[in-house]
Amino acid sequence: MAILPIIWAPDPVLKTKCRSVDVVDDEVRRLIDDMFQTMYFAPGVGLAAPQVGVTKRVIVVDVAGKDEKPQPIALVNPEIVWRSDATQIYEEGCLSLPELYADVERASHVKVRYLDRDGAEQKIEGEGLLAVCLQHEIDHIDGVLFVDHISALKRNIMMKKMVKAKKQRAREQAA
Ligand SMILES: [Zn+2]
Repeated sequence: MAILPIIWAPDPVLKTKCRSVDVVDDEVRRLIDDMFQTMYFAPGVGLAAPQVGVTKRVIVVDVAGKDEKPQPIALVNPEIVWRSDATQIYEEGCLSLPELYADVERASHVKVRYLDRDGAEQKIEGEGLLAVCLQHEIDHIDGVLFVDHISALKRNIMMKKMVKAKKQRAREQAA
């Protein structure tokens, strides 16, 4: 397993509509393991493959609280098959936009169909933070970031901060 570098916005890979996985093989399972390790190390509650530079429809989530048992879920080719009309507003962040947060309104309850790490079809229902996380991560594999759900004004301010932060990181890495 490996901790992979997380790509920061703005980056074309984060705007890419990712391709479906044909076969859940050892390569995909290795990607899943690396993504979990990267997510836990960050730490975060979800991570999508494009955030580590892989444009495949793979996401991992774990919304368990600090004192709870881990609840890792890996979803290959996840698809929202139902979303509630009822919505919730949650203050979201993203490992690709570190230290930036904004209120985002999304469905409060979703049903998602996906393949697990053995390639078996599964369904999951989520509400609360799990619903937020599933929608946020599935957005990622369609090239959508949480800031795409907020006003252009707020988004532009955040993206300017990211351009600065990326320049700073590049300078630090070069030094
Ligand atoms: Zn994210």
